[in-house]
Amino acid sequence: MRITHHFLTASSLSTLRFLPPTPQRRGAAMSWLRALSRFSSSAAERRPRFPPPGLVAASYLSTIAPSASTSSQPLGLAPTQPGKEKPRLVVLGTGWAGCRLMKGIDTSLYDVVCVSPRNHMVFTPLLASTCVGTLEFRSVAEPVARIQPAISRAPGSYFFLARCKGIDADEHTVFCETVTDGDGEDALEPWSFKVPYDKLVIAAGAEATTFGIPGVKEYAIFLREVYHAQEIRRRLLLNLMLSDVPGITDEEKSRLLHCVVIGGGPTGVEFSGELSDFIIRDVHQRYAHVKDFIHVTLIEANEILSSFDVRLRQYATKQLMKYKKEKSEYVISASLLFMMFGSSLQMLDATIANFKGLNQRNVIFAYELNCSFLFQSGVRLVRGVVKGVQPQKIILSDGTEVPYGLLVWSTGVGPSPFVSSLPFPKSPGGRIGIDEWLRVPCVQDVFAVGDCCGFLESTGKPVLPALAQVAERQGKYLAGLLNRIGRRGGGHANSASDIELGAPFVYRHLGSMATVGRYKALVDLRQSKDAKGLSLAGFVSWFIWRSAYLTRVVSWRNRFYVAINWLTTFVFGRDISRI
Ligand SMILES: Cc1cc2nc3c(=O)[nH]c(=O)nc-3n(C[C@H](O)[C@H](O)[C@H](O)COP(=O)(O)OP(=O)(O)OC[C@H]3O[C@@H](n4cnc5c(N)ncnc54)[C@H](O)[C@@H]3O)c2cc1C
Repeated sequence: MRITHHFLTASSLSTLRFLPPTPQRRGAAMSWLRALSRFSSSAAERRPRFPPPGLVAASYLSTIAPSASTSSQPLGLAPTQPGKEKPRLVVLGTGWAGCRLMKGIDTSLYDVVCVSPRNHMVFTPLLASTCVGTLEFRSVAEPVARIQPAISRAPGSYFFLARCKGIDADEHTVFCETVTDGDGEDALEPWSFKVPYDKLVIAAGAEATTFGIPGVKEYAIFLREVYHAQEIRRRLLLNLMLSDVPGITDEEKSRLLHCVVIGGGPTGVEFSGELSDFIIRDVHQRYAHVKDFIHVTLIEANEILSSFDVRLRQYATKQLMKYKKEKSEYVISASLLFMMFGSSLQMLDATIANFKGLNQRNVIFAYELNCSFLFQSGVRLVRGVVKGVQPQKIILSDGTEVPYGLLVWSTGVGPSPFVSSLPFPKSPGGRIGIDEWLRVPCVQDVFAVGDCCGFLESTGKPVLPALAQVAERQGKYLAGLLNRIGRRGGGHANSASDIELGAPFVYRHLGSMATVGRYKALVDLRQSKDAKGLSLAGFVSWFIWRSAYLTRVVSWRNRFYVAINWLTTFVFGRDISRI
């Protein structure tokens, strides 16, 4: 629509503003208002960049307006036209797999449309460090537009902040719903749209497993996203500060400052180690009034770090449980005396009185929980199975009640409801079943990568572990495969059946690493627990761990952030402001 010539100049606006109202001037003002209203409507119609050029011929406004969700036919992009447009590659998810794929894709061959509820990739191996302020949140989040710049520049490539709700593989279409952070009254209602694809890559990851245990979803915090880490940090600092306020009982203080981690896999162990470091270095200095009340308990049903060999596991256990030396001497001595002289509380009191700085509550706590001398700085390892979670306590299967102020749940991952809902064959464990070329068999042009998929039993290959290194390498492999298909003219829907795919995906495990706090880590570079190769633990491993992850951080910007954060934490301690 043409813009009317009544459009105001700065001088006409100032004239209207400063002169007294006369009938002529009122007339001029009315015509200006009419011009303005016409301009705003024409500007809205002219706003051409969204919807994208291929949008189905329907009102743009109804496409982006929340009311569109009431329509039975979701609006969206139009299918691509072979010969006129590039094929469209739709990627679901911005995790390790999806982002590595988008980084490697040749955007002269494909338009890339990414659909994900978050606009960044999370560098998960360093996420635990952000919970206590060793690193800042931004250091581990990489915007997807930096990973694949075409997504915010190229005419047919887009990022849509949305969640995929369903896939019609026959129609080559995905159905999505926007993510609008819709909580408050003025929040936008989410709306639906559809995106036809030529090639679809499902990289939607997995979800934390709760094993159906009641109360977990309501009261525990998972550790998978940056907002989880933010919530953990806020809760931890809140509890520390509340514990310092007059009027709180010792019992309540102990509860508030009891941090419980469920799950002894690498994430649970690394988080416990970070917490322990935070307590030793920062809580002892800056929350000295409450330092004797804070504890970390790690509850695991079996062995911690079961993917590592016995020697490394034992080392990790020892490191985690290590307590502060001067404290430990008091505690061990107190415990020995306690055992020698009987178990009456009076005796215990007398014993404790002889040890300056020793806190009676701690000794009782230790005995009650039947574990050896672990206090302020050491992580208490408890073998147990959680039966239920209540607002302030966990119930174990043997009936033990464990009060907590902060509960972090990290017991591994399983298929998300979205993945389970897809009508595709599944691998053992319920992930999307794929063949050796990462294709979803039975349907054309659909691939899956990362934690959301696993090899079908018919391939004779095991389901690969839910690891970043698997996801990343699958993403890289698939980018190469799709580029080859695109170069040979098979990019458009249903046109790749005759194309030679080349070598299948082969996974070779590069090894595992986990930090256990206090400048110590485990590094196991063997293919499996029983294979030959390098495996070590201690300070050198910690140095390798940090160097390896620093080089793996996706961009130079974040690499710089991470290095500066580590240096700042080393020199000044962690940031304890609750923002
Ligand atoms: C705290 C932590 C530490 C870890 N440390 C390590 C480590 O040290 N080494 C290692 O190898 N592995 C580690 N892992 C595991 C590793 O992060 C995962 O294996 C990896 O992230 C899997 O990548 P992915 O792309 O498959 O899924 P994710 O990285 O989980 O990404 C999934 C993406 O899909 C999006 N999504 C979800 N549902 C939908 C939907 N319906 N529609 C569209 N998008 C959707 C999500 O928002 C996300 O962007 C760690 C994991 C965590 C949580």
